Amino acid sequence: MAQADIGLIGLGVMGENLALNIADNGYKVAVYNRTASKVDEFLANAGDLAPNVMGDGDLAKFVSMLKAPRSVIIMVKAGDPVDHVIAELRPLLEKGDVIIDAGNANYHDTVRRFSELDGTGIGYLGIGVSGGEEGARHGPSIMVGGSPKEWQNAEEVLKAISAKFNGEPCCDYLGTGGAGHFVKTIHNGIEYADMQMIAEVYGVMRDGLGMSPAECAEVFREWNQGPLDSYLIEITSHVLDAVDEKTGKPLVEVIVDQAGQKGTGRWSAIEALSLGVSATTIEGAVAARSISAMREERIAGEKLYGAAPKGKAKVDLKTLEQALLAGKIAAYAQGFAVMAKASEENGWNLPLDRIAKIWRAGCIIRSRLLDQMSQAFSHGTAANLLTQPDFVEMMKDSHGALRQVVADCAMAELPAPCLGSALAYFDAYRQGRGTTNLTQGQRDFFGAHGFKRFDEEGDFHHEWPSLVAPQ
Ligand code: NAP
Repeated sequence: MAQADIGLIGLGVMGENLALNIADNGYKVAVYNRTASKVDEFLANAGDLAPNVMGDGDLAKFVSMLKAPRSVIIMVKAGDPVDHVIAELRPLLEKGDVIIDAGNANYHDTVRRFSELDGTGIGYLGIGVSGGEEGARHGPSIMVGGSPKEWQNAEEVLKAISAKFNGEPCCDYLGTGGAGHFVKTIHNGIEYADMQMIAEVYGVMRDGLGMSPAECAEVFREWNQGPLDSYLIEITSHVLDAVDEKTGKPLVEVIVDQAGQKGTGRWSAIEALSLGVSATTIEGAVAARSISAMREERIAGEKLYGAAPKGKAKVDLKTLEQALLAGKIAAYAQGFAVMAKASEENGWNLPLDRIAKIWRAGCIIRSRLLDQMSQAFSHGTAANLLTQPDFVEMMKDSHGALRQVVADCAMAELPAPCLGSALAYFDAYRQGRGTTNLTQGQRDFFGAHGFKRFDEEGDFHHEWPSLVAPQ
């Protein structure tokens, strides 16, 4: 007998927690998993939530448990598994039902899956879910894209299980096709940049100012009371404070300095490059993780060139805080600019203010600044955050600090690829007369690509001298 409000396929870390979250919010959820024993385990361990959960290891029986029109969340490993699940599920669904991929899909896959279902009457939603395991269990940020009509089937449940900011759900419909997964991809790109800039500032404290992890933790704790107030700054202080049980050392000092990546940061940089939008700080963060992975080469490089001197930084902590704020604004400006361009290209009409709103709670990049960003974007259509009045003021106040820190890092031989690229982006963004007039001249010289003139309309070519050596 059909009785579940929503179905969920995939009882991995995220799926299991999302199902419990749904049940906890008073909705009945049916679950299915490829390995059927996980369904039994899930049902057996549901405790107080047992009245709201049901499930079956047989897909057809699972579907029969769902109220029509059916909403089925797929939370399995991204990539081919999603296509396999859709192929099995589709014959069991009817017009008006909706399939919801909640994994970290590449948005191009979402666009394809969306169009494959187009005309079948079965809706498709690609939703970005951020907040990790905790978020899935207690309230993630949910970025929805896909079929606008069938979104209504799942809207109530998805909004109910999402994080809340001042009572407002951090879940919103953002556009058709792959809009939701695209926004999640850029969210992750910004997350990479945010994390890398924090790591660079930690590097200045550790190597440039000789501070201990506990001292650094104290500074991040203080910063979390000011404009940098955010989940990532908060967890940074906890990571720096943790002590390794085995050695008694600060845990951060026994963790290997090689960062992993699953691909969403890279996708975000690739999308920026494909769209022709400058997102150098996000690209820098991806590259920083890549060079971190080359540990053997870095150790060899240190032997070749000598280790950077310690204790050479001159900046004070207030300047570091301001620099991080300026770098963060530049990184977000880039992320939002990528979304604005993608929106234009795909006809999504992405609401930048509402994207900032649903990032205010639940997700990894949640921060006080996002509330200000949502207000800034709600005032107008200008896509670049650097042109929004409140942020103009903040950048005017803080870019000097970013400049000081980047210069200090250069002289102290400390790498700061993201802070450095954030500064370069800002300086380029506000440089009315750039230097690519020379580039255009060079392009015309070797490839007759032509150039424009300030004083006349049209395309021009110059007859450059030939550099072919006389025979
Ligand atoms: P996962 O390891 O990515 O996926 C585990 C689930 O996928 C299991 O239920 C597994 O079933 C199922 N699965 C794998 N291959 C399958 C196939 N060919 N056919 C059917 N089912 C298959 O677990 P996860 O960490 O919960 O992630 C789920 C999704 O959420 C991913 O897209 C991930 O990128 C995304 N995500 C994860 C996080 C996070 O913090 N972990 C955060 C946001 C988003 P079996 O039990 O049968 O193996």
